Amino acid sequence: MATHFVIRGLKAAVEGKEIITGFDLEMKGGEVHAVMGPNGTGKSTLASAVMGHPKYEVTAGSITLNGENVLEMSVDERARAGLFLAMQYPSEISGVTNADFLRSAINARREEGQEISLIRFIRQMEAKMKELEMDPAFAHRYLNEGFSGGEKKRNEILQMMMLEPKVAILDEIDSGLDIDALKVVAGGVNSMRSEDRCFLIITHYQRLLNYIAPDFVHVMMQGRIVKSGGPELAERLEREGYDWIKEELGIEDEKVSQPM
Ligand code: ADP
Ligand code: MG
Repeated sequence: MATHFVIRGLKAAVEGKEIITGFDLEMKGGEVHAVMGPNGTGKSTLASAVMGHPKYEVTAGSITLNGENVLEMSVDERARAGLFLAMQYPSEISGVTNADFLRSAINARREEGQEISLIRFIRQMEAKMKELEMDPAFAHRYLNEGFSGGEKKRNEILQMMMLEPKVAILDEIDSGLDIDALKVVAGGVNSMRSEDRCFLIITHYQRLLNYIAPDFVHVMMQGRIVKSGGPELAERLEREGYDWIKEELGIEDEKVSQPM
C-alpha cells in the first residue's frame, strides 16, 4: 500500500503548557515536506509527540499512518509501523555499541525467526557507512558517546538508512554540519527517496533544501502551520526572514524562548 501519513488538528502539551496548537499535515509516499520556523515554535515538540515521547501529552487531534491510529500505538509499535525520528539532539548510550544498537533496532521491527543474519547486517552496515563516509570504527563505539555534532547527525542518517522507515522525520539534521558533511548527509537522504517513503524535514535554514529538494514547504509558528507553498517559499524566508509572515497574519512577536 502506498504510504499515507496524516496529522489532523493535533494539539500537544508539555508540562501542562500547550505547545502544539492545531497542527495539520498530509504526506504521501514519494514526497518531501519541509517544516521551517523560528526557534521555540514547537518543531521538535511536534516530532516528539508524533513518536510518542511520554513527556508530550496529545490533547486533541489525530495521527494516522495508512489508516492506522498512531496515537494508540506505543513508541515501539510506532517504530515497527515505519515511523522514524532523527533527533535534533541524539542521546548518548554508554555500554551499547552502535552496531548492537542498530541490529537490535532492526530485529525489533521483524517477526520472530525473521531476524537479520549477522553477515547480512554487517555487510549492509558497512556499505551504508561507506556511503556516509563514516570511519568503520564507529560501528564499535558506544552509541553517540563522544561523537561530534556532525558525527551524531551522520549516525542518525545511518540509522534511517538501515531501518528503511515509511515516514522519516529529520529534526535539524543540518545543524552543526559543514558543507561537505551536509552534502554527504543530503546524499544519504536522497538515496532513500522512494515511492513508499515520505520525509518531514525540519530545518531552520534554506541551505539544506538546496541539497534535498522539497515538494512542499510549510512555515510553523506558535505551534501550527501558518503558511504552505513550494520551494520558493523557503527561498523567500531565507531572503526576508519571518517578519513578513507575522505581519501578514497579524502575529505578535513571540516571547523569546530557548530552542530545545
Ligand atoms: P523548536 O524545535 O521549534 O525550536 P521546541 O519544540 O523545542 O521548539 O520548543 C517549543 C516550546 O516548548 C519551547 O517554549 C520549549 O521551551 C517548550 N518545551 C519543549 N520541550 C519541553 C520540555 N521537555 N519541558 C519544558 N518545556 C519544553
Ligand atoms: Mg527544535
